[in-house]
Amino acid sequence: MQIKELKNYFFSILEGIYEPAELDSIFYILTSYLYGLKRIDVSLQPEFEISLHEMERWNSILIDLKNEKPIQYITGEAWFYGLRLEVNQATLIPRPETEELVEWIIESQTRNIESQMCTILDVGTGSGCIPISLKANLPKAKVYAVDVSDLALATARKNAIENHVVVDFLQADILDVGILEYFKDSFMADTLFDVIVSNPPYVRHLEKVEIKKNVLDYEPHLALFVEDNDALLFYRVIAKLALQLLKPGGCLFFEINQYLGPETIALLRNLGFHTIELRKDFAGNDRMIRCSIQ
Ligand code: GLN
Repeated sequence: MQIKELKNYFFSILEGIYEPAELDSIFYILTSYLYGLKRIDVSLQPEFEISLHEMERWNSILIDLKNEKPIQYITGEAWFYGLRLEVNQATLIPRPETEELVEWIIESQTRNIESQMCTILDVGTGSGCIPISLKANLPKAKVYAVDVSDLALATARKNAIENHVVVDFLQADILDVGILEYFKDSFMADTLFDVIVSNPPYVRHLEKVEIKKNVLDYEPHLALFVEDNDALLFYRVIAKLALQLLKPGGCLFFEINQYLGPETIALLRNLGFHTIELRKDFAGNDRMIRCSIQ
């Protein structure tokens, strides 16, 4: 089959499930991933031949797409802050709003040489998108990252190597009572941080009705969901830890649940944080917070 026919076939199978513009972009992600052919290359070579054997591959991809498996889990890759990252079902697919959080941190740490030589800790790192993009843009920084999932950490380690950056990873359950001692004993012996950042699980079960099938059926629930009656659990635990682990004047950055901006601010204020700043994401939702300790 020629690639122009394949495109028609692809659209005929999937229309109704995806918007045409989305289908278009998924199709070209696949031609680029499979054959290195970008949109323009496909237009220039409409007769590019897809073998019968390759059609089997396309058919299996079509089944996945019909079941709304995210394209990033089909190709095993996602782009974040200009970097290619491996993703799989142990890691969330990095989101554009998290890029905005990273942008904020980079912006706040590039003011002078001293702030560039900062130490950073990312809690709940997943694919490693936050620490890897930070280290790539703040090469003088010393960057640490933890996650509870061994599988996610293996992916994050690989992503750091493939992007030629050094990040210190540690497996840790942030909810463990002995976590502070564990941090101090294991890899952070004398380290206090200038920046602690986290995009922890924050979606309440009651919000599941709003979550699309591609997220709900495929992305790791461990990284997404919290109990309705204790939605800020991770924020409380991480902020308390930050009180012990941040240098004086250090900053804590969070990605937050858009519906819980005021509650998250109140929690941080009650714990003694100051200069609490809330920012919206590109979609206009309350999405990230920066705060400091004395
Ligand atoms: N922003 C993600 C979503 O909407 C959630 C990320 C998280 O829970 N930390 O699916």
